[in-house]
Parts: sequence; structure tokens; C-alpha cells
Amino acid sequence: MRALQDSLRDSYNRQFKYLRLSLTEVCNFRCSYCLPDGYKSSCSEMPLNENEVINLVHAFSELGINKIRLTGGEPTVRQDIVSIVQKIAKIDGIKKIALTTNGFRLEQLAAPLFEAGLTNLNVSVDSLQEENFLKITGKSYLKKVLVGLEKAVLVGIPTIKINTVLLKDLNDTELSNYINLVRKAPISVRFIELMQTGSNGDYFKKHHLSTKVIDSYLRDCGWYEASKQITDGPAVEFTHKDYLGRIGIISPYEKDFCKLCNRLRISSFGKLQLCLFGQGQLSLRNLLQDADQKEELQQTILKSLLLKPVEHDLKSGFTGLTKNLSMIGG
Ligand code: SAM
Ligand code: SF4
Repeated sequence: MRALQDSLRDSYNRQFKYLRLSLTEVCNFRCSYCLPDGYKSSCSEMPLNENEVINLVHAFSELGINKIRLTGGEPTVRQDIVSIVQKIAKIDGIKKIALTTNGFRLEQLAAPLFEAGLTNLNVSVDSLQEENFLKITGKSYLKKVLVGLEKAVLVGIPTIKINTVLLKDLNDTELSNYINLVRKAPISVRFIELMQTGSNGDYFKKHHLSTKVIDSYLRDCGWYEASKQITDGPAVEFTHKDYLGRIGIISPYEKDFCKLCNRLRISSFGKLQLCLFGQGQLSLRNLLQDADQKEELQQTILKSLLLKPVEHDLKSGFTGLTKNLSMIGG
């Protein structure tokens, strides 16, 4: 097993220790940039079951993956979410278990998820104003989400981040409210630049705003770029002496964004997707049925990784397979 550790490298010598695993395409929100008409089933296939998930994570952990992010769709619509976290936490080599959620079920789930072993939590909060939140997510659940977030802090989930997609004319005037939020709370707010997908072309033209506006604003207000390691991934984080929390920005249109790519993705149907905006997917599901298939699964993953493209081509509007991010998890 030792020989396999750290063997997840692509042809450009990027090393992978971080796997994003979608647990479902289903979502109960209608975010205007993602699923404006709500989730509609496009196929009859079921998402990976617990057994398939665990076989998958076992194989990847032996290849050097030490952080798993559970995402979706909305991963907490799965009734077995706590049990999945609990089982992943027991797998050798997995040091961090992360969850990205819209926060709808967080109030009930924060404590059991923490007890199950969840270490990192990202909660999407696209506005801090009720009316705007409804406009962006299609739901009036801002209060509910914030109560869930407070609960997560209270129960002691170690790393908590808020994800906010920056949207021109929708939430770009709320910057100072978000910054106030991290004055006394030990959490990060991460602004994500809106990405074009196969189904949001017109919306993108209307609401895309470069995160450069936040970068300059923060620097002007005395925030400093935090130093980072090569394995930290593409987010840039800022700190300020008067603030307990941090502000991060994720700028997928920046020239060197893909150079720091540190993640692999698996769809909820067990397909390996090498680039968020790539064309290719490889189904691993037939190799997830039995723990004895682990070696063949690992060899298949290692071979496929060599096909990972050097970068996406979003700048030319090429969005690949991704019609919306609920299909794969962002
Ligand atoms: N449902 C969960 C949630 O919203 O947190 C997890 C899945 S969602 C696809 C993961 C993240 O991707 C969320 O923070 C969401 O805001 C972000 N996202 C979705 N579509 C996006 C887009 N077109 N551009 C940038 N971020 C996007
Ligand atoms: Fe659902 Fe998340 Fe997409 Fe919003 S961003 S519609 S919460 S999957």
C-alpha cells in the first residue's frame, strides 16, 4: 500500500490529495445561477449507495487522498448523510471530511455530523438580506440557514466557511455586511466568481463580475494576502489584524487558476470527471461493487488521471459537460 501513496499525479506533475464526491444531483433550492427552475430528474439511475461510496473512498485513500468533500446537488437531502460521514471517518488516511451544503438541514444535522467526524463545513449564503436571498436562491430560508450556521459554530465543527457567489446587481453591494460577519467570528467568507455553465449563458452575461473588485477593496482596507502552500488550491485568502475570520476569493478566470488544481471529482453516479469544465467522464461504478475490486479500480484511476487536461477553456465560453454545477458539485 505504501508504494501507492502519493501516486495520484497527472501528466503536468500536479499531485492530488483532495477528492470531491457528489452524493446526489437532487436539490431543494432553485439558485438562479444553478437550477433556476428547480431540480428535474434527467435519468433513472440511482446515486452511489453507501457501500459503493465506501469502496471508492478506500481505494482513493490508499492512493494518497486525505481529504474528501461531500457535495451535490444538496448532499443533506440524503437520509444516510451522517452514516456516510461516520464510515468515511473510520477509513485509514482520511484526515479531513468536508461538506458543502445550502444549510437547509444544518440546524438538525450540525451536532450529529460533528459527532460523526465532520471537520470542514462550507455553507452557501448568497445574500445576508432576506429579500435578496429569496431572489437568488428561490427560497426564503436565510434565517434558517443562519441558525444552522450558528449551531455549527457552537457544536465546534473545526473549519467553517461561507460560500458566496459574487453576482453583479444582486449581491455586490453587500460586501461590507459579509466583512462585518468575520470581525468576531472565526469563519471565512469565500467569494466565488460566477462561472458560465451550459445552461446559464444569458444569466452569466448579466451578472458576472470579476472578483478583482473585492481584491482591490480588501487591499485598500488593510487586508493582507495570507501565505499559502502549493497544496492549498486556487483560493486566495486575506487576513486583517482587527478581524478574527478571513475573506477568500476564488477566481476561476484568472490565468494561473488551473496550475494549482489539487482536486479530483466523482459524480453521484460514480463517474470520474477530470476537469469541472471538461468533456470526459469515466464510469467507475462497475468497479465499486465489491471490496475485492480495489486494485483494478486503483489501476483504472491512475491510468485515467494521465488524461487530465492542463486547464479549462472557460474564457472562450467552453463549458464542457457541465450544464449546471448541481450535476457535479462545483
Ligand atoms: N447545494 C450545495 C450548496 O449550494 O452549497 C452544494 C452544491 S453547489 C453546486 C456547490 C457550490 O457551487 C455552491 O457554493 C454554489 O454556490 C456554487 N456554484 C454553483 N453554481 C455556480 C456557478 N455557476 N458559478 C460559481 N459557483 C457556483
Ligand atoms: Fe442547489 Fe447548491 Fe445549486 Fe443552489 S447551488 S441550486 S443549493 S445545488
